[in-house]
Amino acid sequence: MAILPISTYPDPILREPTQEVTRYDKELRTFLDSLAETMYKAHGIGLASPQVAVLKRVTVIDISEERNERIDLVNPHIVWRDGKVPSEEGCLSIPGYRDTIKRSKEIVVQMQDSSGKDLEIKAEGLLSICIQHEVDHLDGILFIDHLSRLKRELFKRWLKRQGPLE
Ligand code: ZN
Repeated sequence: MAILPISTYPDPILREPTQEVTRYDKELRTFLDSLAETMYKAHGIGLASPQVAVLKRVTVIDISEERNERIDLVNPHIVWRDGKVPSEEGCLSIPGYRDTIKRSKEIVVQMQDSSGKDLEIKAEGLLSICIQHEVDHLDGILFIDHLSRLKRELFKRWLKRQGPLE
């Protein structure tokens, strides 16, 4: 396990598509452990592989207060969505910026666990929001892409004032 450096906006790696996992081996589990360790150290509730410059279709999530309910999502795909909710979000790759976007209220996600077992989760609330944010990362999409045109301009101005993100 290792703490990995987190890539920040506008690093182009954050826009790259990820590759589906086909081998459920020790290397995958070690990587997931490192991704989780990096997420916990940064006090995040989710972290996706492109954020640590690895282009595998995997992400880890833990929305529990005790930080002991980690979920590993391997090859996740959202296959059903319903409703809309406002969601105030931030991102470890855009430190210091938060804004409100719209997300689906409920989702169904199909994926595997780290041993390759097929899983399906129906989620709502914070878990649903967090999965949508992380699966977006696996498709090269950032939460700021969902901002209205006006808010996008405000973000650009904020970024200019901020200088390079660390
Ligand atoms: Zn993020």
